[in-house]
Amino acid sequence: MSKRKPIIAGNWKMNNLVSDSKKLTKELKSKLEDASKDSLPEIVLCPPFTSLVTTGEEIGHGGKMRLGAQTVDWRDSGAYTGEVSPLMLKDLCVEYVIIGHSERRMYFGESDERVNNKVKAVLNHNMIPIICCGESLEQREQGVTDSHVESQIKAALKEVSNSDIEKLVFAYEPIWAIGTGKTCDSQEANRVIKLIRSVVASLSSKEIAEKVRILYGGSVKPSTIDEQMAQSDIDGALVGGASLKSVDFYGIIKGACQKSCGCK
Ligand code: PEP
Repeated sequence: MSKRKPIIAGNWKMNNLVSDSKKLTKELKSKLEDASKDSLPEIVLCPPFTSLVTTGEEIGHGGKMRLGAQTVDWRDSGAYTGEVSPLMLKDLCVEYVIIGHSERRMYFGESDERVNNKVKAVLNHNMIPIICCGESLEQREQGVTDSHVESQIKAALKEVSNSDIEKLVFAYEPIWAIGTGKTCDSQEANRVIKLIRSVVASLSSKEIAEKVRILYGGSVKPSTIDEQMAQSDIDGALVGGASLKSVDFYGIIKGACQKSCGCK
């Protein structure tokens, strides 16, 4: 059994109307009804902003699932049309915030510096950042995967204290594996995740690095999760496509139960 509690987080991206979100959350809730909370991994649902309220209401407080957001601004308020602040997320009982997803980095100019600002802002408001990193296919082919991931982690953690680093969640998401159906070989994902842990150790301590949870993301499915969770350093999954169907997401949750408590 792992000493780190696994996390299975669903990133719904720009999908699901309010009614769809309600239906999906209800379906998951009913599938989880018979499981004890201790037997489950931490389950995080990250709906689009428009569904945060409804999803949060369905989840309720202290239940088996938690609420996450897909991004955030780093400022509390002001003339920033279209943005959502950490204060606003906290107000909706959001507990986790995905930061630096490759789609945000690619399409919305989320630089390493912004990622760092967001990490600090989310921590300041007592929420937990899920910090994403990962290389493109071109970077992998050029053999710069390790140096790229290392620089993303170092930039994200600039001026973050050890007591805050301890709370963080990371997600290694090779860009070429996101939404493509191609998963990264589990041993290779574990190798990069170990590298991330060693970078975190170099910035804080070995003890702290052993506590942080590092997820794998990229075409995770019920059929891939067992092998992924069997790796020494993979502490769960950030799931896109397969989180949109309750049967698939539940299949992934069950795979992670194996590592949290052997309940499978
Ligand atoms: C993601 O968007 O974080 C992701 C991993 O997507 P998918 O599972 O669809 O590859």
